[in-house]
Amino acid sequence: MIFTEGFRDIGLAKKLLEQIRRTTKHAVRIMEVCGGHTMAIRKSGIQTLLPGEIELLSGPGCPVCVTDQRFIDLAVAYACLPETILLTYGDLIRVPGSAGSLDEAKASGADVRIIQSTFQALEIAKDNPGRNIIFAGIGFETTIPGTAVAVLEARKADIRNFFIISAHKTMPEAMGALIEEGIPIDGYIGPGHVSTIAGSRIFNPLADTYRIPIVISGFEPVDLLQSIWMLIKMLEEKRYGVEIQYSRLVSREGNLKARQMVDEVFEPCTQYWRGIGPIPGSGLRLRKEFSDFDAEKHIPVEVKSGPEPKACICGLILKGLKKPTDCPLFKRKCTPTYPVGACMVSSEGACSAYYHYNS
Ligand code: SF4
Repeated sequence: MIFTEGFRDIGLAKKLLEQIRRTTKHAVRIMEVCGGHTMAIRKSGIQTLLPGEIELLSGPGCPVCVTDQRFIDLAVAYACLPETILLTYGDLIRVPGSAGSLDEAKASGADVRIIQSTFQALEIAKDNPGRNIIFAGIGFETTIPGTAVAVLEARKADIRNFFIISAHKTMPEAMGALIEEGIPIDGYIGPGHVSTIAGSRIFNPLADTYRIPIVISGFEPVDLLQSIWMLIKMLEEKRYGVEIQYSRLVSREGNLKARQMVDEVFEPCTQYWRGIGPIPGSGLRLRKEFSDFDAEKHIPVEVKSGPEPKACICGLILKGLKKPTDCPLFKRKCTPTYPVGACMVSSEGACSAYYHYNS
């Protein structure tokens, strides 16, 4: 408790704001690529306290939001098969697909369950030997080890009715894709949770290739202000590279054990991102040695995907090209109770953050 309070200290925040004001000489666009940062920035009102030259953009950092429609459709198609239990994490079940959401499939009789950890998935598989248990795995470097360890444990325990479909994604490739597309981004607030597992080193090639500063940040107001100040200093001094503000949890190498498990089970592949499209090398699929757990290899299913909801601009928001307040449906037809798009469904989505914190 006391430890966290230090990072919410008003006096420290004021000093950092003053340092930011004194250091800022040019207009800059800084993007955060973590849903936790999006929420923390909106909740603390940091954007409103910064000098007008600093624009903060929300990028593709919310795992539910970037999960594209065809994956939702695939999950719904599996959920609707007989003798199947479809498992996934929280908010995903409310994201609309072409033929409805997982929540709607559940209301129509499909067995869809929310789990908190993949160990629960294995327990469900053991308890239901006559049914296929399909885990819809989403998320970035932070959640991928959980899927990897479940696959390793399932193999060890010879659990043969546990399968996965993977929308797992890796962050640096998406950050690079935005720059390649020509989106003006001067610096990145690097994702704290992702870096805790993967280490700050995964962002070095990105920083070097695009000569861009990246600061890995914590989640409290003082963390974020300090990270913004570090970024502004790097930009004004024309430096690039990766710096770590969140040093109480993030190291250069990350969690070696978790990284090893992920490398053992998965290999890179092209992954589809909502609003951005396919990005080579930005996804993870099961290696051949683990194909026994690949739902798409063992349980064929027909998937029909339609277009994204009309007028929803989630894709543009995830690329930092628009803000939620630019969407004609925001707070009118689209609310957290009746969400039209993924960015309003997720508790870490930009539209949800803008909605709850009165932007
Ligand atoms: S407010 Fe709703 S409809 Fe508009 S972009 Fe956000 S999620 Fe899509």
